[in-house]
Amino acid sequence: MSRYAKAAPGWPREAAHRKATDAHNFPQNHRSSQPVGELLARLDAVRRTGDGRWLARCPAHADRSPSLSIKLADDGRILVHDFAGCPVEDVLAAVGLEVKDLFPPRDPPPEGFRPRHGIPEHRARDLIRLAAREAGIASIVIQDILSGNGTSVDDCQRALRAAETLAEIAREVSSHA
Ligand SMILES: [Zn+2]
Repeated sequence: MSRYAKAAPGWPREAAHRKATDAHNFPQNHRSSQPVGELLARLDAVRRTGDGRWLARCPAHADRSPSLSIKLADDGRILVHDFAGCPVEDVLAAVGLEVKDLFPPRDPPPEGFRPRHGIPEHRARDLIRLAAREAGIASIVIQDILSGNGTSVDDCQRALRAAETLAEIAREVSSHA
C-alpha cells in the first residue's frame, strides 16, 4: 500500500476545493492547537461524522470512497483506522507524520525532576534473600542470648554484622525509591 503512495505522490489533494467546501468539518479548536487538526489538515475529503470522529481519504492507497477513520479519544490520543487495511504507519508516512504524532504532547517534567530507576528484579531478589538470611542469623543469636545457651563473642559479632548488612540493604533500597 505504501509503495503505491510513493509511486503516486500526485494523488489529487484537492486542497483548494477542500478549503472551500469542508471548512465546517474542521472545528476551529482542532486546527492547530491539537495534533488531530494537524492530521486532518493533511488529509483529503475530510468529513466530520460525529463528535471527535472523521472520515477521510486514505493517503496510502488510491482511496475513492473515504475509508480512513479518525477518532479523537478521550485521553487525547488519535485513533486512525483504514478500513481498506493500510497499516497506520503507512497512512501517517504518506502525509509526513509518525505514530508518535498521534499522542497528545506531554507536559514537560517539573524543574529538578529526575526519573526514578527501580532496582533490577534480580538484584531485588538477591537483597530479599540476603535480608532474610541476615535477619535469621541475628534472630538465632538473640534467642541464644535470651535462653542462656552460652553465646560466644563471635556469635554476637556475627549478629552485629547482620544488623549492619540489613542497614546497608535498607540504604540501597531507599536510594532507588
Ligand atoms: Zn489505505
